[in-house]
Amino acid sequence: MRLSHHYVVPHVSTGDMLRAAVKQGTPLGRKAKVQIERGELLGDDLIMDMVAARLRESDVRARGFVLDGCPRTVQQAERLSSILNPVDLDLAIDIVVPTHQVLRRLAARRVCVDCGANYSISSPPLINWTCDVCGGEVIQREDDKEEAITRRLELYERQTAPLIDWYQARQQLESVSGTGAPDAVTRRIIKVIEERRDRKGGRWT
Ligand SMILES: [Zn+2]
Repeated sequence: MRLSHHYVVPHVSTGDMLRAAVKQGTPLGRKAKVQIERGELLGDDLIMDMVAARLRESDVRARGFVLDGCPRTVQQAERLSSILNPVDLDLAIDIVVPTHQVLRRLAARRVCVDCGANYSISSPPLINWTCDVCGGEVIQREDDKEEAITRRLELYERQTAPLIDWYQARQQLESVSGTGAPDAVTRRIIKVIEERRDRKGGRWT
């Protein structure tokens, strides 16, 4: 989100799109809800059909995009590459955080059920778990509960780790440390983007 603000491009978040679908109770949303609550990764086709539709919209075509939460499997990456063809991603960014920190961070996260604003145990809303932005209820998401988190991390290792190799082999990968404050992480990401852009003579592909 911070990154898309910096570059003034649309933030395409599979998590946000899915949560919106769940809240609206669309067929996709109903199917997704069950799987999200179990801590499972959603089917590649379900995710990528949704992403493909979003990437066809005019704002994305005009300005580019920051894609967040996707791809999570090599199959999704292959599909993404064919969706974007004849262009391709400029860069995939792997944000590296030690497992115990991921666990702690997710377990402390709280979100507004209405607008999706993020809080945590250490930075709660001002008044009694009521959203500062919209007044909605701030809760712990089912998929942020410890059992679901553990399952997500196991899936991550099994399914997402090969992605790193896939993007590395295509020289599209940069790794950035995800420890510290969100603004510090954003600065690191912007730095690797700018360095890469400079190496390419100020132009993307
Ligand atoms: Zn809210």
